[in-house]
Amino acid sequence: MLIVPAAVGPWQANCYLVAAGAGRPDHPAECLVIDPGMGARPVVDAACDRYHLRVAGVVGTHGHLDHIADAAAVADAAGVPVYIHPADEHLLTRPLEGLSGDAVPLVRQLGLERLPAPRWTGYLTDGLSLELAGVRLDLRHAPGHTPGCTLLTLDGVRVGDDEEPRPLVFTGDVVFAGSIGRMDLPGGDPAVMRHTLDTVVQSLPDAAYLLPGHGAATTMAAERASNPYLSPNAAPLS
Ligand SMILES: [Zn+2]
Ligand SMILES: [Zn+2]
Repeated sequence: MLIVPAAVGPWQANCYLVAAGAGRPDHPAECLVIDPGMGARPVVDAACDRYHLRVAGVVGTHGHLDHIADAAAVADAAGVPVYIHPADEHLLTRPLEGLSGDAVPLVRQLGLERLPAPRWTGYLTDGLSLELAGVRLDLRHAPGHTPGCTLLTLDGVRVGDDEEPRPLVFTGDVVFAGSIGRMDLPGGDPAVMRHTLDTVVQSLPDAAYLLPGHGAATTMAAERASNPYLSPNAAPLS
């Protein structure tokens, strides 16, 4: 498994390229691009050159601008769809509908109030899998930060010197190392987030390796031990 992370844009959102392995100069391998946010396109192009990859699909963990600003550009250039949960699809073209008022001046300054729709859109459905580029992402709807947040799980991955394979989960803005995503943006809902954390997130095994939408990687064991929102005595969110 090849996973290439890059933090992009003013909000330093993590964009990940995922492939079964690197390609060869004469035989590029397919890859998925997860969360190509602001300024991700040249980063994706450089990673594709370096590892001899060709984009086979673009996936958004959710519709916030810092995660999808370059989704249509990356997908259209490759002639492939952008996959997103339908509840967040409107944010692909109207990003301000998912942001707070204090973000408006920056978004206007960047000229990103409206984005072109991708030529093709595919939908992420809870409980189903997306099989593309030689990898399988299992999909779990995880609303609360936005209505369309989806956890993307790769099963059976060896990280570093692992002897046993484990699940690797792209958590978007649902869970971060030591924290969780904010719930005060349009479509955010503390009660819904509490339910997502108690059910979807808590169903992950200790060994699960988490790759969040911002900041460092972590594990479920570490989050159960130290994340105040995932401890057994977690306070209500609303
Ligand atoms: Zn977000
Ligand atoms: Zn974010």
